[in-house]
Amino acid sequence: MTTDMSADLAIFERRESEARSYCRSFPKSFVKAKGAELTDAEGRTYIDFLAGCSSLNYGHNDPDMQSALIAHITADGITHGLDMHSDAKADFLRAFEDIILTPRGMDYKVMMTGPTGTNAVEAAMKLARKVTGRRNIIAFTNGFHGMTMGALAATGNAGKRAGAGAVSFSDVAHMPYEGAFGEGVDSLRIIEEMLNNPSSGVDAPAAFIIEPVQGEGGLNAASTAFMQGVARLAKEHGALLIADDIQAGCGRTGSFFSFETMSIEPDLIPMAKSFSGMGLPFAALLIKPEHDIWGPAEHNGTFRGNTHAFVTARVALEKFWTDDAFQKSIATKAEILRDGLERIADAIPGARLKGRGMMQGVDVGRGDLASAICARAFEKGLIIETSGAHDEVVKVLAPLTIPETSFRKGLDILFEAAREVTQTHKLAAE
Ligand SMILES: *Cc1c(COP(=O)(O)O)cnc(C)c1O
Repeated sequence: MTTDMSADLAIFERRESEARSYCRSFPKSFVKAKGAELTDAEGRTYIDFLAGCSSLNYGHNDPDMQSALIAHITADGITHGLDMHSDAKADFLRAFEDIILTPRGMDYKVMMTGPTGTNAVEAAMKLARKVTGRRNIIAFTNGFHGMTMGALAATGNAGKRAGAGAVSFSDVAHMPYEGAFGEGVDSLRIIEEMLNNPSSGVDAPAAFIIEPVQGEGGLNAASTAFMQGVARLAKEHGALLIADDIQAGCGRTGSFFSFETMSIEPDLIPMAKSFSGMGLPFAALLIKPEHDIWGPAEHNGTFRGNTHAFVTARVALEKFWTDDAFQKSIATKAEILRDGLERIADAIPGARLKGRGMMQGVDVGRGDLASAICARAFEKGLIIETSGAHDEVVKVLAPLTIPETSFRKGLDILFEAAREVTQTHKLAAE
């Protein structure tokens, strides 16, 4: 172990592309991770309120997933098998059917896509267009769906879009998310008028793509009424409903799917991030059977279905989702989170709470303030990031398995950071 951190980090400056991002907010090199903690090369531990952007809902290195994976590898289990049949895939599919789909009365085919979320979104957009024979897709302000061309076309963020250069994004119409134009403006009404007006310039849509809670876009949480309204409009206009549950799913909002209590039936559901359970790359598109009109190999890919992830994903389902104990613990922690964030919001003039379940944060009104709070928190041993169009939301994405004592400790650190930074900003303003 070396103590000269600057020498350690020089390799990244020298050799890693400028596209690197999160490492800029947390300029340390990490060597270990367990549960809700990360340890850097100097031996300092941090509480992790980022959790791989909700890819680590069950924490780092869950011991049961770890041992199942090690056993699979040492038994010469399949590592790569294209999309051939395997025992690991069968076991995962059976567990997903028995533990998630059947008890919820849900009937979906599971399409293995390339291993990242954006692959599942691309497949969803492609399939919706194929099913309907239409091109246009309705996406929402502040929506984030990934960085490949199709998904990026449906993403609102100007900076992310600019990354693609001078290309034109086509066949997506952006509509206001609930509350996007302020509380007095009914977004659903606007969308409805635009779709019903034959001279609005909005083509009949193949699909609506929506995040029930916007992860990157500032933790805007759609109400049941709004989600039902979007589902109704989709139906009325012959479009499919794509519920992008990549960040909000896998328990993040309190239930396995974030829309579970909303009485809606999305046609397509892209899943990724925590779907593997252990932070391994793994994405899938859930498809209502009647829409599964793909021909064989029509949407191919070398890495569709990560066999190691099948092993850990199955363990995650068996360990956390066979009874309601985990969901109850998420509800308890969501309340702890709300209380902690309220205390922070009270200390910052104009601040307000955003989000739902274990996907909440504080909108502090300004990006520089939110970033300063996160930077100060990191100095104090907490890893946390911002979200929103102006990075104005301090966003908590702690592992759902975080022990309550660590959770409260992390929230205390965040409170202290917010208090100190607000004080400094106030002094600077005077
Ligand atoms: C992260 C994310 C994606 C993209 O997933 P990647 O694995 O980064 O490609 C898509 N949609 C939502 C809602 C996300 O949070």
